[in-house]
Amino acid sequence: MPDAPQQVVVLGGGIGGQVVATRLMQRLGTRARVRLIERSHAYTFPPSLLWLMVGDRSAQAISRDYSTLRRRGVEVMRATVEAIDTAASSVRTDQGTVAYDYLVIALGATLDRGALPGVAEHAHDPYDLAGAARLRDALAGFGGGRVVVGIASLPYKCPAAPYETAMLIDGFLRRRGLRDRSEISVYTPEPLPMPVAGPFAGHSVAAELAARSIGFNPTSQIDGVEAGVLRTQRGDVPFDLAVVIPPHRPPQAIAESGLTNPAGWLAVDRQTLRTRASNVYAIGDAVAIPLENGMLLPKAGVFAHGQAEAVAQNIAAQIDGSLTEVAFAGHGLCFVETGDGKAGIASGDFYASPLPDVSLRRPSRLWHAGKVAFEQYWLRRWL
Ligand SMILES: Cc1cc2nc3c(=O)[nH]c(=O)nc-3n(C[C@H](O)[C@H](O)[C@H](O)COP(=O)(O)OP(=O)(O)OC[C@H]3O[C@@H](n4cnc5c(N)ncnc54)[C@H](O)[C@@H]3O)c2cc1C
Repeated sequence: MPDAPQQVVVLGGGIGGQVVATRLMQRLGTRARVRLIERSHAYTFPPSLLWLMVGDRSAQAISRDYSTLRRRGVEVMRATVEAIDTAASSVRTDQGTVAYDYLVIALGATLDRGALPGVAEHAHDPYDLAGAARLRDALAGFGGGRVVVGIASLPYKCPAAPYETAMLIDGFLRRRGLRDRSEISVYTPEPLPMPVAGPFAGHSVAAELAARSIGFNPTSQIDGVEAGVLRTQRGDVPFDLAVVIPPHRPPQAIAESGLTNPAGWLAVDRQTLRTRASNVYAIGDAVAIPLENGMLLPKAGVFAHGQAEAVAQNIAAQIDGSLTEVAFAGHGLCFVETGDGKAGIASGDFYASPLPDVSLRRPSRLWHAGKVAFEQYWLRRWL
């Protein structure tokens, strides 16, 4: 008699969850029952939110429901994960308890706009669909003035995104003839843009900001936002439009899992993505992976994707002894939009010792076309 299918449960249907579930079905077919638990009915591709913000994409064009995953044989369960019980090998959701043989946690990072006073009331951000749509509407009605782009705290998703936000707003205001009447400034607790990628990449992005007359204020801690005023530890900054990347928190559902580091993010082996619990893996933004330079592997879709490929292969190898295991090697690349129809590209080995080995290539129309092609590949191939 054939063995009963192994129960593989994937928590979260974002970039990591979709890739791991798809690959497991491709490799194992009926030898596994793959269930993906996701609270939303549809998924929006986050890199495209920045284009939506400046009116270059519609919500419909960059969002998909989960029918593609279902066609691939993945069972998609619409539920909110509440807790993980590794002793009982089960997950509690608002729709009941689900048992697993293998578990992959891909719940992402939670945006916590309420954690910094005034952010929810007085600032915008493009970090989810509703926020990006509100910012698009605010920009459409903006007649020029002082724009601040702030980073509330570290870590946050996509090291390049706040800088891309500032440069895309610069391009938007230029196209509308409003740039001469506007100032744009970035405030960040970081010493340089994208410090994990090293000083060359950081100084290069800072130079791109300077070339567009975008003010850059490093090591600026934001205390809060009031109507028309960004409060920083160095003083008050008046604004007419504020964009503040909100604080990010580990998902509540992992808080009692016993799998986290002291900061509450999931702790894993950086090559296998195994947690300390048997048959439990974690990938993507919910995970904290320390690097040789004392920083953390950035929270970026390219890493969630690479980790998902490795985890899917390794779970499949355990279920089907004829497959071989692989390691996640820490390689990644990221496009940096500059708002003038161009993009730079940062790429390299983030696991390199003693420092990540990352290069940044100058902005060009070719890399912008590459980012559009990457978006189309994702929307057609995965979603
Ligand atoms: C504006 C913006 C631009 C970006 N640009 C880039 C880029 O150019 N390149 C790049 O590599 N990365 C980029 N990123 C980062 C990238 O989107 C994330 O790093 C990536 O999505 C992380 O994948 P993930 O699977 O870990 O989490 P996510 O994709 O966030 O997915 C997590 C999923 O879990 C679900 N979930 C959460 N909690 C629960 C719960 N309790 N129960 C059920 N479901 C739950 C969520 O609904 C979500 O679908 C960008 C992000 C933003 C916001």
